[in-house]
Amino acid sequence: MCGITAIYCENEELTPSLLYYSLFSLQHRGQESAGISVFKNGTIKTKKGLGLVSEVIKNSDLKNFESKCGIGHIRYSTSGSSSLENAQPFVVKSKVGTVAVAHNGNLVNHLRLRKALEAEGSIFVADSDSEIIAHIFSKSLSRKDVIGSLEVLTNLLIGSYSLVILVNDTVVAYRDPLGFRPLCLGEIENGYVVASESCAIDALEGKFLCDVKPGEAVVIKNGEMEKFKVAESKEEASCVFEYIYFARPDSIIDGISVYDARKNMGEELARESPVEADVVSAIPDSGVTAAIGFSMASKLPYTECLIKNRYVGRTFIMPKQELREVSVRLKVNPIHKNIEGKRIVLVDDSIVRGTTSKKIVDMIKKAGAKEVHMRIASPPIISPCYFGIDMKSREELIAANHSVSEIAKILGVDSLSYLSLDGLLKALKRCGRNKSYCLGCLTAKYPLSWSEDEK
Ligand code: SF4
Repeated sequence: MCGITAIYCENEELTPSLLYYSLFSLQHRGQESAGISVFKNGTIKTKKGLGLVSEVIKNSDLKNFESKCGIGHIRYSTSGSSSLENAQPFVVKSKVGTVAVAHNGNLVNHLRLRKALEAEGSIFVADSDSEIIAHIFSKSLSRKDVIGSLEVLTNLLIGSYSLVILVNDTVVAYRDPLGFRPLCLGEIENGYVVASESCAIDALEGKFLCDVKPGEAVVIKNGEMEKFKVAESKEEASCVFEYIYFARPDSIIDGISVYDARKNMGEELARESPVEADVVSAIPDSGVTAAIGFSMASKLPYTECLIKNRYVGRTFIMPKQELREVSVRLKVNPIHKNIEGKRIVLVDDSIVRGTTSKKIVDMIKKAGAKEVHMRIASPPIISPCYFGIDMKSREELIAANHSVSEIAKILGVDSLSYLSLDGLLKALKRCGRNKSYCLGCLTAKYPLSWSEDEK
């Protein structure tokens, strides 16, 4: 998972700050590395590094990045190691100039594509799939225009890819034909912004114009914005986990408010799995909106039992297990007074590995809870994700290897229920737009097929 953004702004002085603030508002999508590229003095200039946006891009950098157009990226690795070489944007020379590419998604056929490119003489500096996209696109530009080169990408890439690309001073945004990862377009004073989520457009006080549709490209050059249909697809397969966990609740993706979706999931969960209890609480922050929905539907009061240390990153997106474990202990602290002697419904958005949930349940029990009833606002994750969320193997997924009652025992809760798949789809449908989703990790049925040896 990653966050991407692109800016076109007639006021060159503002572009670096706009890139910075847009990335800053997408920080929840990745914390491993950050980077920006702008077109300046006839070439593309890039600053990237490991860490948060505020650690990588300094105030003093902004002056050197004045330009009408630029792109930005924040990274959370799903393919390739967590190293500086893999930080994006990737910059590649092409016959028509310099190209910078930032990618959100994951290619399932990247090994095969890489071998083929290496055989043709391409040299890679990193081991991530995103650099492959930069090479294929820039090579193709010697024979085709931008849209033709996006068609080449579409024919070759298998997987998920929302892209922002700089081709000299032209800004290009493209969303794969199934629309796995979100991408939207907004208008700002004297220009445009493209971003993974609408919360970035809001942060720039921009006006949301539209989602980039699956298979659609947006090209911005000399202040003129044009949309192109690059690829047709029969149906969408946007990642349902964007709504369950990943996106910010104040974002609207493909016409669906993430907040409403999560609240509805909580309401459906309360209807499906009621429980006698004193209070409803959440594992902060990602479980909060569903817990509010649960509380509203169950008429049980919502109470905060855990306070999050906001200066610790999201545990789920820490790349190594040891880091995740340390980070849970730093992350939340119980409010004893709200817990002692209470029967608590503890709502979370999902359980991936179960390590965080187990520690938190333990913490709440030690703080004096009489009973802990865990309610999960999504179905069990039974299969890996190959399209950009860090759930790579069945072994690490608790629900792939244990029944619900076994998981309840492992976590140490008095009862455990998950939202059903029907309940999840009903919750999303109630948001007012009927569309299709990738449900691969919940059903083990994926919207794309590829050869086994790529897995
Ligand atoms: S497999 Fe799951 S996490 Fe991955 S894209 Fe599909 S719904 Fe999202």
